[in-house]
Amino acid sequence: MTSHALGMTLKELRRPAEFFLGGMFAWVLVAGLGCAGAPDVRPLTGPAAPTIDPDNVVVLLQELIRAAPQNPPGAENQVVQLVETRAQFAGIETERAPFAKGRDNILLRLPATVDKPGRPILLVAHSDVVPANPDEWSAPPFAAEVRGDELYGRGSLDMLGMLALDLEAVVALAQSSAPRHRPVWFVVAGDEEVDGLGMQAALTTWPALREAEVAFNEGAMVVQDLFHPGEDVWTVAVAERGLMQFTLTTTGESGHGSRPGPDDAPARLTRAMQSVLAREDPLTLTDETRVMFAEMGRARGGVSGLLMQVPPLLGVFGASSLEENPAMRVLVHNTCALTMMDAGYKRNVIPDRASATFDCRILSSVTPGGFRDELLLLIDDPKVTLTVDQAFPANGSAPDAPVLAMVRGAAADEPTPTSLAPLLSPGTTDSRFLRRVGVPSYGLVPIRATLEEIAAIHGKDERVRVSELKRAVVRWVRLLTAIVNEPGPLVAPADPAGSQQQ
Ligand SMILES: [Zn+2]
Repeated sequence: MTSHALGMTLKELRRPAEFFLGGMFAWVLVAGLGCAGAPDVRPLTGPAAPTIDPDNVVVLLQELIRAAPQNPPGAENQVVQLVETRAQFAGIETERAPFAKGRDNILLRLPATVDKPGRPILLVAHSDVVPANPDEWSAPPFAAEVRGDELYGRGSLDMLGMLALDLEAVVALAQSSAPRHRPVWFVVAGDEEVDGLGMQAALTTWPALREAEVAFNEGAMVVQDLFHPGEDVWTVAVAERGLMQFTLTTTGESGHGSRPGPDDAPARLTRAMQSVLAREDPLTLTDETRVMFAEMGRARGGVSGLLMQVPPLLGVFGASSLEENPAMRVLVHNTCALTMMDAGYKRNVIPDRASATFDCRILSSVTPGGFRDELLLLIDDPKVTLTVDQAFPANGSAPDAPVLAMVRGAAADEPTPTSLAPLLSPGTTDSRFLRRVGVPSYGLVPIRATLEEIAAIHGKDERVRVSELKRAVVRWVRLLTAIVNEPGPLVAPADPAGSQQQ
C-alpha cells in the first residue's frame, strides 16, 4: 500500500461509545428501519488442501527481506530472482519482463488440470518496499532477525510477507496431486510504492492477465481483537478512493520586491490555492462506505454497531463523529492536500512564475474530470493554469461476490470467532489498475495482525509474528484450494467485470 492509513482507519473504527453515539431515539429508528440481512456464508468444500511445511515460508520471507528491495531507487530484481529460483525449482512456468531499465516483473503460471477449466485466479504481489531508516528501528530493517516470536523487517507485512505466502501456496498447489479446476497465475510487479509502473506494464506485457476471473492483492488483513478482545475481523479491501493530482501555475511580470502588484504570479497563485484549500465538501456516504460501516457495525455490536448498520441513521447520528475523526473524515469526503510549492529565487525579486501541486483523493460520487471542472469554477481565474499530473476514478469490486462468502466460510472455521468486513481503503494499491481493465480485485491478506503491528507498516519496526505467518500460509493454501475448485462463479455472473465505479 502506498499509505499506512489502513491502521489509522481501523483504529478509529474501534473507538468506543463516543463514535456514533445515538440514544433512545436511535434505538426506535433502528427497530423501525431494520438492519441489512445476514451476509452469505459458504463453507469451504473441494479436495483436501495440500500439506505444506510452514517453516518454508519463514525462511523465504527472511531471504526476501534481506534482498532489501527499497523503492526509491527500486532495487527489486533480487526479489524477482528469488521468486524465479523457487518457482523453477518446483517446476512452475515463469516469465520475466522488464518494466524499466534493470527492473523486472515476473509471472508464474500454473495450468488447470481438468478438461474444461474455469478462468484463471490471479494472485498479485509487489516486489518493492518503502525505504527504512535503521536509526529509528530497534532491529536492523533488512536483517530479518527473529526476536522471540517476531520477525522484524521492512516488508514483513507490506508486502513481502504476502508475497511469500502466495509463492508457497502456488508451490504447494503445483506439487499437489489434487485437481485444479482453474489456472492459478501469480504476478509479482515492481514499483507499487512509487508510481505503479510495474503493474501497468504487466497488463501490457501479459494482456491475458485481463482474463482473470478475480485477483487477490494486498490492502486489508485479519485484524486481531479489533472491537472485542478474543474476536477477530477479517477485513477485505473492496474499494479505493480515486486520485486527482494537479499543478496550478501562474505567470506574470517579474519585478522588484518594493513594487508589488495584484497580478504578480505568486499573489495570483496564492488566491487560487486558497480557493482550493477553502473548498467546502459535503459529507457523502457512498455505497462503499455504507456497506463497510454496516458490516463493521455487525462485527462491533452494541448500540453504535446497530447504528452503523442502518445507512439513514449513519449520516444523521454519525455525522459529527465522522467529521471530527481524521481517519473517518477522509472516507466520506473528497480531500485536497497541498503537497508542493515552487516560486522565487531571491528575497527582493518578484518571480515571473509560481506553481503549487495538490494531491486530491476523490470518492466514487465524482469523476476526476468533474472534480477538475469544479475546482476551475472555484478558482475562477483564466490566468491560472491547471495541469493534471495523475488522475483515476475511485474504484471498487462487488462487496457481495460469492468468493467473499467463501472467505466467510474460512473465517467460520477459525478457532477465534472471526467476522468479515469489506473495507474502503483511503490509500491506493495496484488493484486500481486491475479493476480498470475489468478484473474484480480484492485486498485479502490472510495474516492475523494487531492494530499495533499494522500501524508499523511504512513506519519503524515493521514485523510479523512467526506463529501467525505459519498459520497464515496454512489458512491461505486451504482457502485457495477451495477457490480454485469452486464449481460456481467467484464473482456475480451478472457483473463479470466486478463493479468498477467511474
Ligand atoms: Zn503494499
